[in-house]
Amino acid sequence: MALIVQKYGGTSVGTPERIEAVADRVIRWKQQGNDVIVVVSAMSGETNKLVALINAINPQGSGREKDAILSTGEQVTIGLLAMALEKKGQPARSYTGAQVRILTDDAHTKARIRDIDAEPIRKDLADGKVVVVAGFQGVTESGSITTLGRGGSDTTGVALAVALKADECQIYTDVDGVYTTDPRVEPKARHIPRLTLEEMLEMASQGSKVLQIRSVEFAYKYDMPIRVLSSFDEFGQGKSTLVTREEEVMEEVSVRGIAFNRDEAQLTVTGVPDRPGVAYQILGPISDANIEVDMIVQNIGSDSSTDFTFTVHKNDYAKARDILCKTGETLGAKQCTGDENIAKVAIVGAGMRSHAGVASKMFKTLADEGINIRMISTSEIKVAVVVDEKYLELAVRVLHQAFGLAQTAV
Ligand code: ADP
Ligand code: ASP
Ligand code: MG
Repeated sequence: MALIVQKYGGTSVGTPERIEAVADRVIRWKQQGNDVIVVVSAMSGETNKLVALINAINPQGSGREKDAILSTGEQVTIGLLAMALEKKGQPARSYTGAQVRILTDDAHTKARIRDIDAEPIRKDLADGKVVVVAGFQGVTESGSITTLGRGGSDTTGVALAVALKADECQIYTDVDGVYTTDPRVEPKARHIPRLTLEEMLEMASQGSKVLQIRSVEFAYKYDMPIRVLSSFDEFGQGKSTLVTREEEVMEEVSVRGIAFNRDEAQLTVTGVPDRPGVAYQILGPISDANIEVDMIVQNIGSDSSTDFTFTVHKNDYAKARDILCKTGETLGAKQCTGDENIAKVAIVGAGMRSHAGVASKMFKTLADEGINIRMISTSEIKVAVVVDEKYLELAVRVLHQAFGLAQTAV
């Protein structure tokens, strides 16, 4: 008998019919002798509606109140799914994040899970119940509701799988696995049957939203296999992608996939005195404001001054720009500028380590299309570039073609 955690995303629970279909699938797994914990997202579009309501009243409102609102979408689906299961004769029990006690820090709207109380869930499972948990939410030590960042139900799923030592965490969505790139942008994208958690970590961190990055970080840290599959396939029929630790994946492919991200904005401060500590003086206040910085480039000028460019999430752009321009003034900088119309594209693959020339091939492919590269960042298993947003889709498609992802068996 196995313990399985299944997470169903917004489209998978988007209508009453879809919720009934999820209930049927859960019951099939249960009838095969498994214990099942189900994590659900809000019905598709619901969280966006809640965000729009918040923005209509006060986008600068407190994180605590935002989370009180944002968490409600999932409270609807847990109740509906538990009712659907009971109607079909399967005892079930729903839990909000606070009811399980998914304890988080108090970084509202992007909280991190600290601890999960597995005992009540274990007891329900022992009683033959299916446990249905609200994704995307937790609670602070002092009892305030928190949310885990957009796409956070994936992280709830993996964290529960880790806490309960599940055999596998299944992520059901509207695609039947991870593809070489987003199939919505490149219809020639190929299905990837297996990839490493390391590769998935890079894909997710470069913007592939099929899995929230924190869910992959959890899985990597605690060695939890993730299977991505479609809730629209016949039971037991469709394809899937298994994401596991590296030693289990044998194939050597140099580039596994192309990830991209339209959510970042670029900030630049020019003509800053070039002396020790300047990077800290510029980025310290940004990080003190709880703003994450992604890519960073520093150019040393000839006149002992330096230019400093970095990217942040578009949501943090206005705030980061204010902070940067103030710091710039104190440092005597020449100028402080920003650009929201950028995008990041990355090629990712564990096999890159042993293949020279991957980066130069990427740069040539983009140059051949006249696409200018604004920033570059590399790791052992990825090369990422920032380009003008208007070239993003073209860049994805030409790179997908150039690295043979559409044709070669992956
Ligand atoms: P859910 O609501 O189930 O969490 P998401 O919309 O968060 O679903 O994630 C699934 C979507 O991720 C797909 O519909 C697809 O457009 C997108 N996606 C982005 N990159 C990839 C990729 N490399 N492989 C598969 N899907 C991807
Ligand atoms: N409902 C939340 C969102 O739309 C969480 C999730 O779907 O994973 O971001
Ligand atoms: Mg998602």
